[in-house]
Amino acid sequence: MRCPRCGTLWRLGALRCGMCGAEPDFSALGVGPPMPARPAPAPPSRPQTSRWAASAVTFGPAGRIVATLLVLVVGVWLLWASFFGFVGALLWLGVITPWALRDIWRPVRRSGPSP
Ligand SMILES: [Zn+2]
Repeated sequence: MRCPRCGTLWRLGALRCGMCGAEPDFSALGVGPPMPARPAPAPPSRPQTSRWAASAVTFGPAGRIVATLLVLVVGVWLLWASFFGFVGALLWLGVITPWALRDIWRPVRRSGPSP
């Protein structure tokens, strides 16, 4: 598990990041707080995932594309209009956009057999 803010690899059961102090985003994992007794989920073969499948936490293909376009359009508009100034546009494109795109295009476990 990695820190959502700075990317530092966390030890199992850590309640907050040792580098930046960020707390883990349990909702993103779909589980509760870490169980120290639980073995580390590190399967050598990755489960079948798809960036196009809809799930409880992600959009389907259309939703993902729309969300991506929205994020990009807002970023371009911020640059063009400089509504929040250059810093705001930089923040959007450098921080919010990658974060949003990673969330939008998060792979999910496929329900059916792989093609
Ligand atoms: Zn951190």
